[in-house]
Amino acid sequence: MKVEVILQEQLFFTKYVDLFSFKKRPFLSKSETYEASVAKSVKVFELMREHNWSEADMDLISKILNYDFALSLHHTMFIPGIERLGTDEQKAKWLPLAQSYQIVGTYAQTELGHGTNLLGLETTATYDRDSDEFVLNTPRLSSMKWWPGGLGKSSTHAIILAHLVIDGEKYGMHGFMVQLRSLEDHMPMPGLKMGDIGPKLGANNVDNGFLILNKVRIPRDNMLMRNARVTRGGKFQQLSTSKANYATMVLVRVKIIGWSTDTLRQASCVAVRYSATRRQTTLKPGTPEQQVLDFQTQQFKVTPSVAAAYACSFLAQSMLTLYKRVFAEIVKGNNSNLAELHAQSAGLKAFLTDMATGMVEVCRRSCGGHGYLVSSGVAENMVGSLAMVTVEGENTVLYLQTARLHVKNMLGSLAMVTVEGENTVLYLQTAL
Ligand SMILES: Cc1cc2nc3c(=O)[nH]c(=O)nc-3n(C[C@H](O)[C@H](O)[C@H](O)COP(=O)(O)OP(=O)(O)OC[C@H]3O[C@@H](n4cnc5c(N)ncnc54)[C@H](O)[C@@H]3O)c2cc1C
Repeated sequence: MKVEVILQEQLFFTKYVDLFSFKKRPFLSKSETYEASVAKSVKVFELMREHNWSEADMDLISKILNYDFALSLHHTMFIPGIERLGTDEQKAKWLPLAQSYQIVGTYAQTELGHGTNLLGLETTATYDRDSDEFVLNTPRLSSMKWWPGGLGKSSTHAIILAHLVIDGEKYGMHGFMVQLRSLEDHMPMPGLKMGDIGPKLGANNVDNGFLILNKVRIPRDNMLMRNARVTRGGKFQQLSTSKANYATMVLVRVKIIGWSTDTLRQASCVAVRYSATRRQTTLKPGTPEQQVLDFQTQQFKVTPSVAAAYACSFLAQSMLTLYKRVFAEIVKGNNSNLAELHAQSAGLKAFLTDMATGMVEVCRRSCGGHGYLVSSGVAENMVGSLAMVTVEGENTVLYLQTARLHVKNMLGSLAMVTVEGENTVLYLQTAL
């Protein structure tokens, strides 16, 4: 049964009203917030399997539940990571376990010392020829993984991003599947230390965590080898562009464009409704107070947000369509449009999350004092927006990456050099 049908018949909210209600949330402690969100995640996953919900159904239910899933990283990064980085055999092994929640995973890239500078990451995966294993290590305090969602308490497994080392030589960043916790009692596996990084400005339903790896051994097959592999005996083979390992990050940037749009949609909706119902100030003595929406200054605040929410919805859809098309090409071995996809998704993620954050704050202020109350919803929208400008690439850095590619392509176009694949500034060649 589709989500829309369930909602129409009101089965969902009447049956699970306590579980899915937002009313209690502002009054819960950090641990209670996490526990309530885990319970929601588990129920939604049960319903998903019971009713055979599609990806589109899950997207709809996620929007309705305001993305309040403690285990969201499992769906947004762990499963897509296996799909994008794993070989067919690795997918056949790990995906059924992940899709049936026999394992729950996260994606661990950022470290205490480095997030933006991926080449500065310090976690290593060193090949041991004698045992045909990788040894994963975070040698210093600054190298501990720091931030991954679901790492603090929930996850049993992680895709760990680490520098591959063979015979003392570095061979770039790759994803490694590492079991974090026992499937029997959920205790950390030997050589691992992990926990929650503490209260955050928002998103306290998610257990963002830290992880220290002390020479942890994993079988060679646990390196996700779709784009590059290491043979028994330690020979490194690059099978696709080294940039292909960042495909999961590109997907999440595309999703962030959608999430940020949802936040703006909600905030502008609250602001317009509030402005229509709120009355303040009498313009003519003896007449009723005005709807605040009638003030031009109020219209100036809320209408651009409504317009932008519509525009961004179309933008988010077209970005997702572009992503799906380019990803289908990548699966067939054609990476020629990967750079353009990266430039567009990075630039749009930065631009849209910056714009949405500004507009959500204006919506919040347009609700007066009520906008400062958590129960208004719009205050939480504001806090949610603030994370989006940093996650999956801090916005300044993303602008610079997009600009770098466009400038490179522009110079190529002016020199009439044929650039491989599509690119936004190609029109310059025909304009000359
Ligand atoms: C809510 C939340 C959830 C997260 N979830 C995850 C997760 O699940 N998994 C994961 O691996 N990580 C996660 N992260 C980490 C996140 O991806 C990083 O915080 C982000 O990439 C920014 O990196 P940073 O913290 O190192 O910022 P920094 O690089 O320290 O940025 C600090 C400042 O320096 C500037 N700066 C840095 N480098 C440059 C440069 N080259 N040029 C110009 N300016 C520069 C930035 O613009 C910024 O103003 C999460 C973070 C948050 C806040």
